[in-house]
Amino acid sequence: MIRPSSPLVPALLVLCCFFIGGFSRSEAEEASAAGWKKPAFTGQPLEGLRVALDVGHSRLTPGAISARGRGEFLFNVSTARVIAGVLEKAGAKVILINADGAITGLADRAVLAGKEKADCFISVHHDSVNDKYLRSWVHEGVSRPYADNFRGYSVFASSKNAKADRSREIGLAVGAALFEAGLKPTLHHNEPIKGENRPLLDARTGVYEFTDLVVLKSAEMPAILLECGVIIHREEELLVQDPAYQDLIAHAVVKALSTVFPREKKKGLFKLFGTE
Ligand SMILES: [Zn+2]
Repeated sequence: MIRPSSPLVPALLVLCCFFIGGFSRSEAEEASAAGWKKPAFTGQPLEGLRVALDVGHSRLTPGAISARGRGEFLFNVSTARVIAGVLEKAGAKVILINADGAITGLADRAVLAGKEKADCFISVHHDSVNDKYLRSWVHEGVSRPYADNFRGYSVFASSKNAKADRSREIGLAVGAALFEAGLKPTLHHNEPIKGENRPLLDARTGVYEFTDLVVLKSAEMPAILLECGVIIHREEELLVQDPAYQDLIAHAVVKALSTVFPREKKKGLFKLFGTE
């Protein structure tokens, strides 16, 4: 809650919005050759926000295997580090969970985030597809499964999370920011087959309900899971390792969080001007 202490404060707010946390369309978007529009930020729009960033899976249980035989954990840790760096640049305090890949349990991650009093929890993953889509190819002399049918990001929230409404709000904001940044969602998790069949909260921006996702429903703070791309897809496996792609995702996450948590932004403004 903002309590202006003098009539001067609203004027200062208007003035300093030009310098802090702005996402004006004309100045803040960087067009790229790939049609990406990176939502840049100025100042520290996330000042005061504590974000738990969870690196999905572990070294022992690496998750999905890419078209070139690389474990998902390695993709997750690489992208999570980029997201963490950009979130910190935006003023957030990042609690990076499982960067060393030693945590195998799912609920443990949410417990750690709770101990650190995180305001929100984001689990970083990379995606695969149902086995029925798998074909084989030979890469560097080794026959490996791949599927080029689906590609794109997806975002999940659970209605069983303790802060389900807020989780959904963050999920929708992240989906919208990724979409507006020029990325395309994959909708294959909505296919009515065993192992998928996830209801879409927003088909346009690729946001799903995933009720029993343990890491989301066990978190006491708002939580989402982000699939950054489909690594069983031969081209997308390479794309998600591109630092520019990871940076684009990171900036979209900053934009989304700055719209969902505006209070922290304003708190930063007041701090800057010494009025609170
Ligand atoms: Zn995963």
